[in-house]
Amino acid sequence: MDTHSMAELSLIWLRNDLRLTDNPALTWACKQAEKTVAVVTLTPQSWESHGESAARMGLWRDQLRSVAEHLQKLNIPLRVLRLDSFDDCAPALTDLVRELNAGALAFNYEYPLNERNRDSAVCQALESVGVEVRGFHGELIIPPGQVLTGQGGPFKVYTPFSRAWRRRLADFDRPVLPVPEAQQTTGLDSDPVPDDLDYKPLQYREDLWQVGEEAVSERLNRFIDEREPDYADKRDFPALPATSALSPYLTIGAISPRQCMAALRAAAGSRDWLDSSWLNEIIWREFYRHLLVAFPGLSRLEPFRPEVEEKISWLKNDAAFEAWCKGETGFPIVDAAMKQLLETGWMHNRLRMVVASFLTKLLRVDWRLGADFFMRHLIDADFASNLGGWQWSSSVGADAAPYFRIFNPQAQGEKFDAEGRFVARWLPQLESLKPGKPRQQPGAGAALGRPEPVIDYKKARAASLDDYQS
Ligand code: FAD
Repeated sequence: MDTHSMAELSLIWLRNDLRLTDNPALTWACKQAEKTVAVVTLTPQSWESHGESAARMGLWRDQLRSVAEHLQKLNIPLRVLRLDSFDDCAPALTDLVRELNAGALAFNYEYPLNERNRDSAVCQALESVGVEVRGFHGELIIPPGQVLTGQGGPFKVYTPFSRAWRRRLADFDRPVLPVPEAQQTTGLDSDPVPDDLDYKPLQYREDLWQVGEEAVSERLNRFIDEREPDYADKRDFPALPATSALSPYLTIGAISPRQCMAALRAAAGSRDWLDSSWLNEIIWREFYRHLLVAFPGLSRLEPFRPEVEEKISWLKNDAAFEAWCKGETGFPIVDAAMKQLLETGWMHNRLRMVVASFLTKLLRVDWRLGADFFMRHLIDADFASNLGGWQWSSSVGADAAPYFRIFNPQAQGEKFDAEGRFVARWLPQLESLKPGKPRQQPGAGAALGRPEPVIDYKKARAASLDDYQS
């Protein structure tokens, strides 16, 4: 077809914002021109270096297919650019703009440094050929740099950040954006989305993680109606389905944090929704993204508090690390959590803290190895939240607990999984043990095929503290 005869056309570059509702970049692109084309860039080399998991990319692929189908109904075809790395995005998008005679391109920002460098290169390249480029903060409720201390700097501690965030909300509060209206037809067909995204075989538990905006929105509403009112009391108990399990969808942008906040607010009635513990977690997510932008070294895996990391000597403890990865440390709560991760792609928040503390403070393995393993296995793998969680757990992060606070895995198990229901679910050998403490002891079930503990907790704790203090 003769693309030069087309009226001005806009492009929406989809990344981790795979939704039509509340997508400010898509809304803008559709208002900008009568015709719109969506584009995605497949960059397997960059994904490999970021450790993108097969589970997360599988979910991304299927959500993308669902979005593409929906977009096609609005006459917005999808172009799939098969590239190698982020470096190829600027030239490839410049070629596409020329081919389609597009006048504008929109995207929602991503905050890790490599992504921001990629986007700057794209902006420069497209602006130099006269294309208007617009970035939007669709991944956040309040953009980075907008929640500042009295001195005008970034917050380094969560609680004052969250208070200031709540105060700033009025300035960034807006309704959820509706799905845009249909565009004029371009006459172009959508490209197929390759099964492996040119990356690697992609796999996730499709029975657990449904895609499609409708399914995700139902999940949100069910959580808000049935579980959110008890969230503060029950969220720490991994045997209960007490949290939203929305993280995989927030991570690929199948739903926006603003949609979450709107659902919470709509259901709250006379309750003060702004004080909700669940909203607090959404604000943690915002905190870690704001930090990533304010402190670029974090994207290079530098610790937030180098003065703490300097005092730690990481051990090269390959066998213990392998046991941890496989859920074979002999500590039931740690192993059950790792099995949950390997089996479902997801792990309960309390247990993420427990296994991260175990790896970094008792096995004394560098937090970067744990963070990388999580990125390669989590279906909700998210650079900012994962980095924040690992640095927090190893005490080198913003607002982290002091190094000498080391989780005792057995005590954590006894407190948060008192009957041992969670550990027995993931370690079936423990089912025959009496519910309660026997299921949480290091080496529990050794006679039934479970491993002996890889460390003696008390000795490992003392050695870790000695090393740190000297
Ligand atoms: P809910 O309790 O329902 O919370 C709602 C949403 O708030 C979550 O979906 C998530 O987007 C956000 N949220 C909740 N807790 C946190 C938190 N502590 N920090 C930042 N955001 C939060 N979360 C990820 O999304 N991806 C990761 O890769 C990730 N890695 C982590 C690694 C470690 C070591 C730790 C300690 C935490 C990590 N988290 C990560 C944060 C948290 O564990 C998960 O977001 C949460 O368990 C997801 O479950 P949910 O959706 O049921 O959360």
